Amino acid sequence: MSKFSSKRLSGVKPYVAGEQPQDKKYIKLNTNESPFPPSPFAQRLARESAGDMLLYPDPDYKSLTEIAAEKWGVKPTEILFTNGSDEALNFAFIAFCDQDTPAVFADITYGFYPVFAEINGVPKKIIPLKDDFTIDIKDYFGVSGTVFIANPNAPTGIALKKSDIEKIVKANPDNIVVIDEAYVDFGAETCVPLINKYDNLIITQTFSKSRSLAGARLGLAIANESLINDLKTVKFSTNPYNISRMAAAAGIGAIGDEEYFNANCAAIMKTRETFTDGLKKSGFTVLPSKANFVFAKSGSLSGEKLYTELKKRGILVRHFDLPRIKDFVRITIGDNKDMERTLCVISDILKVIK
Ligand code: PMP
Repeated sequence: MSKFSSKRLSGVKPYVAGEQPQDKKYIKLNTNESPFPPSPFAQRLARESAGDMLLYPDPDYKSLTEIAAEKWGVKPTEILFTNGSDEALNFAFIAFCDQDTPAVFADITYGFYPVFAEINGVPKKIIPLKDDFTIDIKDYFGVSGTVFIANPNAPTGIALKKSDIEKIVKANPDNIVVIDEAYVDFGAETCVPLINKYDNLIITQTFSKSRSLAGARLGLAIANESLINDLKTVKFSTNPYNISRMAAAAGIGAIGDEEYFNANCAAIMKTRETFTDGLKKSGFTVLPSKANFVFAKSGSLSGEKLYTELKKRGILVRHFDLPRIKDFVRITIGDNKDMERTLCVISDILKVIK
């Protein structure tokens, strides 16, 4: 921290992003990216937009928003596109949290929530997950604060049913509830159909996972028009051109290639089940995942040891050094070949290391 840094900055522990190593080629199962390239149509539209980069993009991203509205079954005024869904979440912290309105979230959840709270000077109200890492929905009834729930949760992969989320939203009529659906396309239920039934619900989604566009940085918020207008106030007060022309073009292509999207999600879900069975056969406890990753604990190796031994053998997974989950590793679901290889390497490690 420099001697010039603001008081606000001094309390902030930045988010630790997953490694993107450059030293050698790894099987990269640490940041929940897709193993599949972006849809060829998305790539083509992005390429074709490159020549227009001399001009700022349309700050309303009208074409993208209209196509997305049709896809999500909402009005264009109920969508705001952002630079990754991280930006949509940050906008929600700025728009709906303050000294008197803390951010409310689980002890084990997306690691960016506490960081957004800190950088925005917002108090945190942390609600522990149950021993089995599920949410007790009653803990979220009538909380005074803005609720952030990742559904499916990260890094556990466990999803709540839409009906349970609806109970939380209903039980907080005076507070905003933000449902972070970054991983919803891998088998969980979306709450988008509820946005007009409740005036306090915001959904965020991303193109980084199921649409293979992590490098483009494209996310969105979906909510009733009045809440979207609040988020727009933040966007137009910070970065009106928050998405590049190429990312917006890629987004249009990705939405347009529904068949490719469906096939990739189905492939990942199938591989997730096979991989989970394999891990269980090797003595692992695997939490029931509805995401493109699994959270798993070996019967004999610590999470850190497993992470280190896999890395030595060219496979990157994610380990979180937090007391409740230090025995676990989070493993992104790659393609079949990579996951078969990972199971083989894990069984070799278990043979040589006790
Ligand atoms: N929410 C959750 C739960 C995530 O794991 C991630 C990915 N790190 C995000 C939001 C943000 O993803 P992006 O900014 O790439 O849309």
